Amino acid sequence: MQFQSVIGQEELKKKLIQTIREGRVSHAQLFWGAEGSGNLVLALAYAQYLNCTNRSDTDSCGICPSCNKMQKLIHPDLHFAVPVNATKNVPTEKKPVTDHFINQWRSALLNNPYLTEAQWYELLDIENKQGRISVHEATRIIERLNFKSFESEYKVLILWLPERMGAEAVNRLLKLIEEPPNKTVFLLVCEDTTRVIKTILSRAMPLRVPPIAEAALCQTLMQLQGLSETQAAKIARLSAGSYSKALELLQNESEQNIYFEWFANIMRMAYAGRFLDLLNWMETITKAGREKQKNFLLYAEHLIRECYMFNRGIDKAVYLMNEEENFARKFSPFVNERNVDELFKQLNLALGHIGQNGNPSMIFTDLFLQVGRLLRK
Ligand SMILES: [Zn+2]
Repeated sequence: MQFQSVIGQEELKKKLIQTIREGRVSHAQLFWGAEGSGNLVLALAYAQYLNCTNRSDTDSCGICPSCNKMQKLIHPDLHFAVPVNATKNVPTEKKPVTDHFINQWRSALLNNPYLTEAQWYELLDIENKQGRISVHEATRIIERLNFKSFESEYKVLILWLPERMGAEAVNRLLKLIEEPPNKTVFLLVCEDTTRVIKTILSRAMPLRVPPIAEAALCQTLMQLQGLSETQAAKIARLSAGSYSKALELLQNESEQNIYFEWFANIMRMAYAGRFLDLLNWMETITKAGREKQKNFLLYAEHLIRECYMFNRGIDKAVYLMNEEENFARKFSPFVNERNVDELFKQLNLALGHIGQNGNPSMIFTDLFLQVGRLLRK
């Protein structure tokens, strides 16, 4: 993976390249960024640049023997540790580790470098189990990294999602991370530092990967996905800097139509105070599952924002489909400076509670009551 295939993140790329060119290669680094920010892809590009034999000021060459193998993810000095679990073919007795799934991992990552954890588990077919990086994996890492590097200057271990490491695995690895063999680099790629065991976190140099800039995301959606500028801008806006999210949204345009219907229904019922209808409707959203509930709330925030834009007469900033636009135009008088902040606050609150595994019925009932009150303000 070359830096040029990483979406956006220009500042970070420059910074990473500069540290390598100045010979400041920290032996343990934490690429910390939200899902879809490109944290994993950046780690791959970093590893490739590190071992490229003909690198330029801005990127690895992409054609030297090292780059060639790196790009196929088959370089003998590039190691992976990723969350896995028992499957039909690799039962618990076999002590599942990344090696058992390395071909699947390579093809998944080559197919989509912005692979998400949920997508990976789906490919693994681990039947709703969570993946983990076990103590057996830690042992294997130690064995591997104690070998001399095969071909390149640096041995690189990319450990994806240290969040999935338990205390036993972390303890086994600590000494190696503290005093690694010469020219060995650990790249920990994490999404949520609060869920990583502190002892390992404190030993890695943190590198914050921000959300992808909206303009860069928009550009990529036009170039790689063939979207029109309006459509790309809309998706980019909704994706909050996550390319994975953008891809998901693209696949779920139909889902979006459902959210629109939900939104229009709720707003009508909440405004009219038809709470019995709301209770009936609630069953639909309760059954939809937490992921959809969260997506719906994000969508609702987006549509409220657009309604408010209409209200303020800022038409040109509005990115909506026809149906949505008609609705937003009619609905916009009800979203105004007297209630818009509070509406956002309530939606955010609900989003937070759903994320923390709160009871959906209670959360949405409360939300409807609040929204009804606010709309009539
Ligand atoms: Zn190269």
